[in-house]
Amino acid sequence: MSQPRFFENFPSVVISVCSLIFLLLSACAALPSLTTAQTCGAKGIAAQVLGSGGPELQDKRAMSSYLIWQDGQARVIVDAGGGSALRFGESGAQMSMLDVILFTHFHVDHSADFAALIKSSWFEDRKRPLPVYGPPGNDFMPATTEFVSDFFGDKGVYRYLSELLVPGEGGSYLMQPHTVVAESTPAAVFHNDNFAVTAVRVIHGPVPALAWRIEIAGKSIVFSGDTNGEGPGLLHLAANADLFIAHNAVPEGAEGVERRLHMPPSVIGQIAADAKVKHLVLSHRMLRTLGKEEQTQAEIRKRYSGPLDFANDLDCFPVK
Ligand SMILES: [Zn+2]
Repeated sequence: MSQPRFFENFPSVVISVCSLIFLLLSACAALPSLTTAQTCGAKGIAAQVLGSGGPELQDKRAMSSYLIWQDGQARVIVDAGGGSALRFGESGAQMSMLDVILFTHFHVDHSADFAALIKSSWFEDRKRPLPVYGPPGNDFMPATTEFVSDFFGDKGVYRYLSELLVPGEGGSYLMQPHTVVAESTPAAVFHNDNFAVTAVRVIHGPVPALAWRIEIAGKSIVFSGDTNGEGPGLLHLAANADLFIAHNAVPEGAEGVERRLHMPPSVIGQIAADAKVKHLVLSHRMLRTLGKEEQTQAEIRKRYSGPLDFANDLDCFPVK
């Protein structure tokens, strides 16, 4: 048996110890990380960021997605952008925990991992229906009912899973898609024994879009989704929210299509201040805003003085 020349003069016991250390390190690397066990929202209410990025993969963040935890149960997911399904697994959540799926809109960076989440649920013991709520459609976008059936209907791309959507077809649970037509006054959309959900329409260029508010155990959490901030809806929805997660997709001074789609920091700060939100979190961070946090914070601080955080994937924000 030959050894590399470097080791020729080493006592074999040293080589054995080195080999043992190497094997132990390899074994550790192969084990699933215990730190990925669910740690957010084990007690009380918390919002967890699954995806803090935008559509660019180079931001090294999952695309937009959030969970709301209550006492160790992931009850609500808002959006399911690309990469977020992996983060969902890392969060410790299971699809059988969810009471509802909410979509702000159907751009890829908010919806691409929907099918991955649903397929994952196939391997869990979920019996109860899974409601799915999102915006209406237009020439650019499908309505929520159409979006879901385009995946899982009997003519959908994943029609091999159509028993999720076609009553009486199989033994799985059923998805219940609903299209929400909302205006700028918050509309009641869903409630159960644990929480209530309201929505307003927000302006995101030509794309039908909603912002969401969840009232749970006396706490309120608001998600702006993508919006340019026009109109009174988001301000109404965010009034006195305990936590407001807003999308920092463009820097101050953005123009043209960027500005028609997204709100700059000054607009976010103004809404947070006027709505008197108790905690502001900036997410949907893109290459054009990453690295400009100081400037962004300065614009926000001209208007809003409450707690402010920049989100990263898997960040957990307990709501006290
Ligand atoms: Zn987006």
